[in-house]
Amino acid sequence: MTDECIFCRIIRGEAPAQIVYQDDRVTVFRDVAPKAPVHLLIVPNRHIESLTQLEGADAELMGNLCLTAARLAAEQGISESGYRLVINTGADAGQSVSHLHLHLIGGRHMPVFFG
Ligand code: 5GP
Ligand code: ZN
Repeated sequence: MTDECIFCRIIRGEAPAQIVYQDDRVTVFRDVAPKAPVHLLIVPNRHIESLTQLEGADAELMGNLCLTAARLAAEQGISESGYRLVINTGADAGQSVSHLHLHLIGGRHMPVFFG
């Protein structure tokens, strides 16, 4: 946890967000600038800057984040229509918040993305 990180502040309940799920490992909230009808952020409660900082011991944590995303997709009703998980990592990918997060995006057709 850090004082400056906006996602840490949301996880602690110090900054407002539409939280849709939270347990002792993960917090899920709606992106403030959604790119699709469903746009959730799946965020580990522990402050990890990006995939680059992950260690072997975090394998279970990452698995839990993916399972959480799949479960939330089902709850949001987009399992059948489809959805995309995105993890932006570093400057070239446009990572703007330095706290690891999965974007869960769905509810509309998305073109194949190689941009
Ligand atoms: P990135 O560009 O790092 O992959 O994604 C960061 C995402 O966090 C962006 O989609 C942005 O809209 C979202 N975001 C940034 N600040 C906040 C905030 O204070 N609250 C919420 N709910 N989302 C935020
Ligand atoms: Zn953080």
